[in-house]
Amino acid sequence: MTRNKNEKQGARPTRKEAEEAVKTLLLWAGDDPAREGLVDTPRRVAKAYEDWFGGYELDPISFLERTFEEVDGYDEMIVLRDITFESHCEHHMAPIIGKAHVGYLPNNKIVGISKLARVVDAFARRFQVQEKLTAQIAQCIQSVLKPQGVGVVVDAVHQCMTTRGIHKAGVSMVTSQMLGAFRNDARTRAEFLGVIGKA
Ligand SMILES: [Zn+2]
Repeated sequence: MTRNKNEKQGARPTRKEAEEAVKTLLLWAGDDPAREGLVDTPRRVAKAYEDWFGGYELDPISFLERTFEEVDGYDEMIVLRDITFESHCEHHMAPIIGKAHVGYLPNNKIVGISKLARVVDAFARRFQVQEKLTAQIAQCIQSVLKPQGVGVVVDAVHQCMTTRGIHKAGVSMVTSQMLGAFRNDARTRAEFLGVIGKA
């Protein structure tokens, strides 16, 4: 689920090959990759890719493995809302910019709250479709923490839709994945949606 980089296509191309590919795209766009302003662009783009797609190097499961059980009986919902993320759509390689809201109902075990944001980040920094991103975050938390339930809502703007194609600025897409009590218990789901302001 996590380390799928180059799984299908074999060895990773070299940095040089990646930079050559960027040069080809600059040419394809109609510009001259040899002019001063573009000469270092392939190198910069390759470096930017290491950041934007650094999620392939991260194992989100490992972020959730350190848990705390000393919670003095706390057994109510824990919600981290407005987790900003940047991702890229796998159809156009265009940015997806948005926020994720993550909640879970613990089963004795809780995690450091920043860990939920790190899980979002690890899945976002890959080529994605929003539905898959939403499901992966929820499944990861469910499978490692085994809580009573998990809710994930993602609200994001897809630049492949706002800056090209149909050109609809300001349109955002909302997806949600509810597991366990968040799916089966209407009150739990309503509480979560109320906390994140989506009720
Ligand atoms: Zn797209």
